[in-house]
Amino acid sequence: MTAPDWALLDKHTTGALLRPGDAAFADSSTPFNRRYADRAPAAVLQAADRADVMRAIDWAREHGVPIVPRGGGHSYAGHSVNTGLVVDLRALDAISVDPADGRVTVGGGVLTGALYAALRPHRLALPLGNGAGVGIAGLALGGGSAATSRKLGLTADTLLHTTLATADGRALDCDRRRNPDLYWACRGGGGGNFGINLDLTFQAVEAPAASTCLLLWEAEHAPAVFDAVQRLMLTTPEETSLRLGVATSGRTGTVVSAIGLHLGPAADLRELLAPAFAAGTPLRAEIADRDFWDAMDHLQHDTSAGAFAVRTHFATRPLPAAAVDAALAHLAAWPGSDNPDGCGFALFGWGGAINRVHPQDTAFVHRGAEYLVSLDTSWQEGDDPGTVAANLAWLAELDRLIVPHAITGAYLNFTDPDLRDWRDAYYGANYPRLVATKRRHDPDGLFRFPQSIGS
Ligand SMILES: Cc1cc2nc3c(=O)[nH]c(=O)nc-3n(C[C@H](O)[C@H](O)[C@H](O)COP(=O)(O)OP(=O)(O)OC[C@H]3O[C@@H](n4cnc5c(N)ncnc54)[C@H](O)[C@@H]3O)c2cc1C
Repeated sequence: MTAPDWALLDKHTTGALLRPGDAAFADSSTPFNRRYADRAPAAVLQAADRADVMRAIDWAREHGVPIVPRGGGHSYAGHSVNTGLVVDLRALDAISVDPADGRVTVGGGVLTGALYAALRPHRLALPLGNGAGVGIAGLALGGGSAATSRKLGLTADTLLHTTLATADGRALDCDRRRNPDLYWACRGGGGGNFGINLDLTFQAVEAPAASTCLLLWEAEHAPAVFDAVQRLMLTTPEETSLRLGVATSGRTGTVVSAIGLHLGPAADLRELLAPAFAAGTPLRAEIADRDFWDAMDHLQHDTSAGAFAVRTHFATRPLPAAAVDAALAHLAAWPGSDNPDGCGFALFGWGGAINRVHPQDTAFVHRGAEYLVSLDTSWQEGDDPGTVAANLAWLAELDRLIVPHAITGAYLNFTDPDLRDWRDAYYGANYPRLVATKRRHDPDGLFRFPQSIGS
């Protein structure tokens, strides 16, 4: 092992090697979640092509420098920034679509918004999620839930092939026939664990017709709306996906929302939502037919979210009224912060096509739930440590109220660095097989970060 020779890495790569103070350094290394804004690597390689990625892996192994790939930088836990070498993959941005068979191949740094735009002219759809700046590799490797997932499955469920650059410096084809252990692990095992995915090929389908809804209620309707909409979420067809949430901030007060996508006409969606209207008159109700991609655009959000923490669970049954009441009372006691995003909790519709895959057929184990429950709070970088601590304690207490009504599990893509039992929560019975795969392909743990497999 020798001291890092950055000049050598620079000499053998085409892309820019950035050091702290360089103009583009922050853009290539700052985590989306400002909770980790003070985390900075020793250097960033803006990989120009696949060869740069391979050389960076060889160099990092030979010099004993920790290496992490960075796609969209949206890891909730800042896992794409370490203190060693970050490989910024965003120049690996090629997208090719075969309209004849719907196979779509993306470079390892392609972002969600770009892929939606590339699919549109071909009238093809993939389940891709709501963050335009989210990296496709990061999304797919951790599962990838979308408003279309109840019908089309997780992003990972549509993965046909990936080329993975591994710790020993090889680029491996991974699919059903070749390196099936890695192919299995890349469908839910999580980004950054097994190597750097140079490209990923997905099976797209013809884009269906779509409609969307946005219903907002005042806080007084929250108990009745939660009761009605949670039950509705159990009975709607898999063409329909709802996100039921309640949020509060010092500035906006408390708002209850049901945001949804229906792969069918708005008239049907309006009819399906009748129990939600009966639970309380919304202060705003928009239900509209949309072109599929307009619907995706409508559901996109990529705000500058400041600093935040999120805790997740899976549930098979609606949260009982007493738990909803307790959580709502807890929301009213939010300690506050300077972040206008405030705090809240939400239930995302799960089930349908997601649950038709056996839990052991891919690394993504959470195949029996009806809801993904997400609890969150936020603050700003400038908030004092007392405010941050109060927000984290508040989130832990909200979690305590919800845990009795959840099944074991947490959603890896909503990464929670404060989760103590993360191995079981993220991976359940699939964890030992993931560890065995990791030991086979990265025995020395070149790719390691907090919560990496085998750590
Ligand atoms: C605004 C926002 C919206 C979101 N919406 C959704 C959603 O709708 N559905 C959903 O499921 N999730 C969603 N997420 C979560 C998101 O899917 C995960 O945070 C995802 O891991 C981010 O990927 P990234 O490339 O943007 O982030 P990064 O931080 O760059 O990467 C995340 C992890 O993947 C690794 N990684 C990145 N690229 C590669 C690669 N090519 N090869 C190997 N490892 C790689 C990184 O090292 C890191 O460990 C959202 C997050 C945000 C902040």
